[in-house]
Amino acid sequence: MSQQPYFIGAHVSASGGVDQAPLNAARIGANAFALFTRNQRRWEAPPLTAERIAAFKANCERLGFGPEQILPHDSYLINLGHPDPEALERSRTAFIDEMRRCHQLGLRYLNFHPGSHLKQIEPDACLSRIAESLDIAHRAVPEVVAVIECTAGQGTNLGYRFEHLARILEQVAQPERVGVCLDTCHLFAAGYDLRSAEACAQAFAEFDRIVGFEWLRGMHLNDSKTALGSRVDRHQSLGRGEIGFAVFEFIMQDGRFRGIPLVLETIDSGIWAEEIQLLRRFAASTISGGQTTRRSL
Ligand SMILES: [Zn+2]
Ligand SMILES: [Zn+2]
Repeated sequence: MSQQPYFIGAHVSASGGVDQAPLNAARIGANAFALFTRNQRRWEAPPLTAERIAAFKANCERLGFGPEQILPHDSYLINLGHPDPEALERSRTAFIDEMRRCHQLGLRYLNFHPGSHLKQIEPDACLSRIAESLDIAHRAVPEVVAVIECTAGQGTNLGYRFEHLARILEQVAQPERVGVCLDTCHLFAAGYDLRSAEACAQAFAEFDRIVGFEWLRGMHLNDSKTALGSRVDRHQSLGRGEIGFAVFEFIMQDGRFRGIPLVLETIDSGIWAEEIQLLRRFAASTISGGQTTRRSL
């Protein structure tokens, strides 16, 4: 059986239109990318035009980006576990719009942050509300898979424990319409150590035991400016933060991370091309004595 390739890219700009995203990804040597399909800081967004949709599909086709290589991200405003009924409704409406856009663009996934309890409801009630929101979205839009991202646990955000992700997965009515995205910066800030191959093996074994690798649909590859367990989400370029290179070497040497989008959200877009090359070298090198050769950026 032939091995799946590694799909490596970055969260690229879609300014000027969604059809620009695949061009921006190709420019940095990526074979995966993430994008916002609407302004991520506004509630209102004009619908995608037929021309835009056609241009996006044509660019993806021409540059070799299939739906399994693309991980669109939803707006930061959306909170699918919002304690207030009116605010929850607004989030659900916006999420359905996001999902519909993905469907129109021929995309398979929609990556989102689970939600926040805002100290107004119990975490468990919030997780149930998120699952209910997903059921509503699944009924409204066909096919698109909602990909739940682990979080740093900043403020009252849930999703910083594998148990939170599992709790949502076990409550959704259509489990085949959900998946999980792990962000290395978020994991580390949430308290999962990733600073050595041993620590990574342990953290991902825990993920496998509590959630399961069969749910993994994408990764965000970021180093962290903040310390282990800080619960503060500050991305850093690879190898320049508190985590170091170990986790990125680990991922590029472990077949369980093949065939899914691996997306940089690191802070310096000027070195994304180099970061992608570095990751490809990690994948190509063979581990000797438990460590590949370190190369600085
Ligand atoms: Zn992320
Ligand atoms: Zn983040």
